[in-house]
Amino acid sequence: MSEPPTHMSPDEFRRAGRLVVDWIARYMEEVERYPVLSPARPGEVRAKLPPRPPAGGDGVEQWLSDIDEIVMPGITHWQSPNFFAFFPANASGPAILGDLLAAGLGVQGMLWATSPACTEVETHVLDWLVHMLGLPERFRSDGAGGGVIQDTASSASLCALLAARERVTGLASNEHGVGGRRLVAYTSDQAHSSIEKAVKIAGIGRENLRLVPVDADFAMRPDALAQAIAADRAAGALPFFVCATVGTTSSTAIDSVRTIGEIATREGLWLHVDGAHSGSAALAPELRWVNDGLELADSYCFNPHKWMLTNFDCDCMYVADRAALIKSLSVLPEYLRNRATESGAVFDYRDWHVPLGRRFRALKLWFVIRHYGEEGLRAHVRRHVALAQSFKTWVEGDARFELAAPAPLSLVCFRHRGGDEANQRLLDELNASGRLYLTHTRLDGKLTLRMAIGSTRTEQRHVEAAWHAIRELAPD
Ligand SMILES: *Cc1c(COP(=O)(O)O)cnc(C)c1O
Repeated sequence: MSEPPTHMSPDEFRRAGRLVVDWIARYMEEVERYPVLSPARPGEVRAKLPPRPPAGGDGVEQWLSDIDEIVMPGITHWQSPNFFAFFPANASGPAILGDLLAAGLGVQGMLWATSPACTEVETHVLDWLVHMLGLPERFRSDGAGGGVIQDTASSASLCALLAARERVTGLASNEHGVGGRRLVAYTSDQAHSSIEKAVKIAGIGRENLRLVPVDADFAMRPDALAQAIAADRAAGALPFFVCATVGTTSSTAIDSVRTIGEIATREGLWLHVDGAHSGSAALAPELRWVNDGLELADSYCFNPHKWMLTNFDCDCMYVADRAALIKSLSVLPEYLRNRATESGAVFDYRDWHVPLGRRFRALKLWFVIRHYGEEGLRAHVRRHVALAQSFKTWVEGDARFELAAPAPLSLVCFRHRGGDEANQRLLDELNASGRLYLTHTRLDGKLTLRMAIGSTRTEQRHVEAAWHAIRELAPD
């Protein structure tokens, strides 16, 4: 027998843990001072790592010193208040502590029986969120529906597609014997790439995904959706799934969920609504128009890990009728059989997503809600929307720039009137300056800058400084 490994004793953990927590707290204080975008070139981080792992162990002081020397130069500071790229990935103190406790408990919550609290806190907090966001009551767990935490919106959309496939092929093979029919899915040409990925994974076939054209505001054209469905039916295919987006990644375009939902209901399609970023806006009652028509949806998802102060990863997925979802994902091998499952009185969340195992993610979400309360979370989204609306008026007031899309929430898409090359140069110079980080999209074929406001610590002065930098570096 070999010697047992030297575990970190509880006392050593206490000491090392304090050092790590202090390190994180200092990072929170100093994050604003770092150049936002990492300047690292490919291979630069690896070149500083030793070619072989250590034979014996070393300690927390050395780890932290390597974090400072090796890792930090390779970090893009998502938590910087000057981070305006993509969409935000909010982190917060209570979420970090919830994650730490989840790691400390080390629970694997695949079944209710493997830690009842892991399942029940999750179900309960997701029901709270139905209330907090004004979501349809049919998503609550005490009826036929319910919520579950997925890792990301991509997984939620995949599970929605699988449930939709189950519903329609179940019907087809049992009642009509047409299980071999070609299934067709619909979303707009502005939808997130995860829908295409889900279609690929689910074996629907890329050529059976219709990218429905959009209107002048980049929202799906319901008339074009109805036409595409009719054409596919005429060709003998079986339309089964439509995904509407509330807040597209490119420009936060808002599809008309109500009109699309009426078509889906009439045509018997599963309606999934992707509110990954913008769903959090509904925390503020005056922004709840983002939920319009959601009562027609079969499934819905939004990401607290984007704009609701909950560290990555945390996506909340809701279904109106959990039966199809569970039917599409449930398997029960002998070694997982147990009385609680057989009683039917509990949720086993492994049947609600692709993996078997699951972390206790609900803890960080629970702590976030408890720390901020409904009012604090409301203030968070309100502040960013107000800042974005100010930024929008500044763009409108400068003749060198134009708005590229409506900015209904916290993202402003704009461009210099000087054309693609001028915008590319401006973007590169801004990002190289380290003062902020912006990313781009393409709207109406033109290169467009995206100012996505929503980091945990972004305040008015940061948005003002960003606009100052943009004006300073923009050509006349
Ligand atoms: C960010 C985003 C996604 C993907 O989110 P993940 O959680 O990273 O999978 C999907 N849809 C929309 C509209 C998004 O903005």
